[in-house]
Amino acid sequence: MLMHAPDTWRLAPMERNEIIPQANTYEEHQANPANAIEVTVIGGGLAGMAASIHLSRAGLRVLCIEPDLEDNSSVGESLDWSAPGLLNVLGLTMDQLIAEKIATYKRHVTLKLGDGIDRSYIPGAWLGRPPFNLELRTLHVDRSQLNQLLRKIVVSQGVTFLQDKVVSVETSGRRVTAVKTQLGNTISSPWFIDASGSAASLFARAFQLPAYESGPRKVAIWGYFPVTTPSEGTTLYADGVKPPYMEWVWEIPINPDTISVGYVATGETIKGRRQEGHTVEEILREKLGRFPRFESLLRSIPAISPSVTSFVCRMHGRVAGANWLIAGEAAAMVDPMTANGVTAALRHASEASRLIIESRHRGRIPYLAGAMYSRRVLGLAKFFNRGIERVIYESPIRNQIGVLPAGDVYTVPAWSLNSIYSHFRPHGAVKTLLFGFLLDVFRGGEYLLYQFCRWLAPSSRAAV
Ligand SMILES: Cc1cc2nc3c(=O)[nH]c(=O)nc-3n(C[C@H](O)[C@H](O)[C@H](O)COP(=O)(O)OP(=O)(O)OC[C@H]3O[C@@H](n4cnc5c(N)ncnc54)[C@H](O)[C@@H]3O)c2cc1C
Repeated sequence: MLMHAPDTWRLAPMERNEIIPQANTYEEHQANPANAIEVTVIGGGLAGMAASIHLSRAGLRVLCIEPDLEDNSSVGESLDWSAPGLLNVLGLTMDQLIAEKIATYKRHVTLKLGDGIDRSYIPGAWLGRPPFNLELRTLHVDRSQLNQLLRKIVVSQGVTFLQDKVVSVETSGRRVTAVKTQLGNTISSPWFIDASGSAASLFARAFQLPAYESGPRKVAIWGYFPVTTPSEGTTLYADGVKPPYMEWVWEIPINPDTISVGYVATGETIKGRRQEGHTVEEILREKLGRFPRFESLLRSIPAISPSVTSFVCRMHGRVAGANWLIAGEAAAMVDPMTANGVTAALRHASEASRLIIESRHRGRIPYLAGAMYSRRVLGLAKFFNRGIERVIYESPIRNQIGVLPAGDVYTVPAWSLNSIYSHFRPHGAVKTLLFGFLLDVFRGGEYLLYQFCRWLAPSSRAAV
């Protein structure tokens, strides 16, 4: 049942641009009870839109609640190699995104150090051969334009957008019964997906789900620069000296004329700089100024208006209940350096929707299927987050073997396991457990290497 006052329906700005073909309205729902919403999707970011598309394609009536339809500061521009396949399923091909100039090819990731040394990480040719047959290119995307394209698809499938914000969740045992919104709506439906992002994590709070954090709180500061010759890869810049904790800069060509450039450091570091009286722009300029690549770019731009966000990589357990699932960053946030956030959001959306579609006639998600979904979400997020912290951010392995080989130690298992996941789709219990075992083996290996390098570190040996 859908209950709300007619005047609280706010359809997307696209409606005003006349690109909503058949937006459902309050009156339609009132006039015909058969129109009642079957799935409420909270959050119209990547995970929420992808879930809305999957569900509406399967014939379910979907309401997507999103407070911010302007979508001004989307991040997540460098996609990993599994993302294009997931976008393809939603109706967006690599060729189309490139032709519409809202994406560029990403063929490699290059790590450049302050002392001029660099290394490119390129997916092994074996991934392009049987049995994997993987595409060896992926994309960088202009996220605001990609979001607009996805929103057109969502709306063209008859999904109803409600511009509003969920403020509380009503539960009964393991079920969600309704959500209440800022504008006073109470919305109930048989099924719910929480895709409200990491800051909100509505269902995780409502059900007090177990939470696991990885690494300290971090801050990202980023801006956009015009370029004439973008590269066909993501470039990461880091200091060549051996910092106790890694800071880094990204350069991502989001379209043929624009690069996104961002700086990631711990919240403590940025707080310290701010307390010294520096503005966010000054902090970004000072950091970029350390790399020759940005000297002329900085000179050519008199003022930058950087975006800023603060985040902590928090992952939740038990992200599936009787009639609800959590998808995207609301379930698990992966560190931006892994470039796996977009893939995770699209994957969760696809898997969560499939569980609802398969369970729609029995009224509840089978316990085992929900538990396996939770295990996959948490297992992969922990694998990426703990791996990047131990191997790259923290110093023992990086300082012992060098930052460039450490890049190999992180990327080879990360890329391989991600590809294996995409190819073998470990959905059932047996495959999920087998894949989980594989993740544990790699995580165990990284842990042992980390402890060994800590033991080898001069400071720890001196203390013995
Ligand atoms: C600095 C940074 C850089 C990144 N770079 C990359 C990258 O290069 N590659 C990559 O793959 N990933 C990257 N990521 C991660 C990627 O951006 C995210 O994983 C992905 O966009 C998550 O999508 P989502 O839909 O889960 O969450 P979001 O995009 O956060 O969407 C959540 C939506 O829910 C809405 N919402 C919030 N609260 C409520 C509420 N109470 N009621 C209703 N709606 C609500 C929000 O308005 C928002 O639209 C990066 C992340 C950060 C922080």
